[in-house]
Amino acid sequence: MSDTVYDVIIIGSGPAGLTAGIYTSRANLKTLMIAGSKWGGQLMLTTDVENFPGFPEGIQGPDLMTDMRKQMERFGVEIKDEDVTGVDFEKRPFKVDGYEGKSIIVATGAATQWLNVSGEQELIGRGVSSCASCDAPFFKGKKVIVVGGGDAAMEEALVLTKFADEVTIVHRRGEFRASQIMQERVKNNPKIKIMWNTQITEVIGKDKVESVRLVTSPLASPLQNFGEGKERGEVFPCDGVFVAVGHKPASKIFEGKVDLDEKDYIKRQGEKYQTMSNVEGVFVAGDVHDYHYRQAITAAGYGCEAALDAERWLSENN
Ligand code: NAP
Repeated sequence: MSDTVYDVIIIGSGPAGLTAGIYTSRANLKTLMIAGSKWGGQLMLTTDVENFPGFPEGIQGPDLMTDMRKQMERFGVEIKDEDVTGVDFEKRPFKVDGYEGKSIIVATGAATQWLNVSGEQELIGRGVSSCASCDAPFFKGKKVIVVGGGDAAMEEALVLTKFADEVTIVHRRGEFRASQIMQERVKNNPKIKIMWNTQITEVIGKDKVESVRLVTSPLASPLQNFGEGKERGEVFPCDGVFVAVGHKPASKIFEGKVDLDEKDYIKRQGEKYQTMSNVEGVFVAGDVHDYHYRQAITAAGYGCEAALDAERWLSENN
């Protein structure tokens, strides 16, 4: 165990963690960030970011994260590019692997659930995307597919209709799980077609997405046919594939240490300190608690909130 007890240990280094670090270090709190061996989070996997305020020409995701990290480093945050393997929040100071902290900010983010089919990973950023609000403008006049049947898939499809000529939702069952209002919006939009009971087995394309291979889903229900004129095993030409089959919060190491909800997101339960978990002094920021907005800018906002809460909590509890 090291001799140092940090005021704050931030776990995670996406926009939430890095923003938290900027705030805690500028507040003169001795801060350690455990950034992960692959630091930077989901934005390290994206290309153009056009919706983060302050960059009129847009910015590459990895460049944005590198700048945020440099900005944080200026104020003296210590960074370890290591993966956390275990935490002990039973008593204070809290323990995170071999480090000790008076307070903790958990900002480990979430990962897109991908389809894990052939061609998908290779074509991320070249037609395969998980964020319509980030990438839809690149599909002006194009033909795109959205995969999924939840609210996120409906929302992605609706956003895409503002740019693409044709949007086809491919869903593995014969009914959506999305809210009625979202389903109605989708069904009433003339640009959106629905292909029920269908799954993608391959994303095809050399340098960019050219088509997908479709088959009948093993979860197919008799409620719907597949959609008019659709043959099975067909190769369906398209320019983009938007995957919206859910996210998985990176909360595994916190199981049993803080309260998680039924989908494994960490619950914010504070009243006075809104970003606090059920454990006094353990705060949470970004996609590991937020399944709703999931934007870089909202994660950064949550990071700021958690840092301000930690600062105030420390001043009252030390
Ligand atoms: P979700 O509700 O869990 O839906 C995921 C969808 O993906 C389901 O339709 C599921 O199919 C499908 N799916 C899962 N794994 C798949 C696979 N391997 N291959 C093909 N399809 C697969 O997730 P979400 O849509 O991301 O929403 C998450 C939460 O955020 C929800 O509570 C949602 O209400 C909320 N949200 C709200 C809004 C809004 O209100 N505007 C927008 C976005 C998200 P099955 O249906 O067959 O299981």
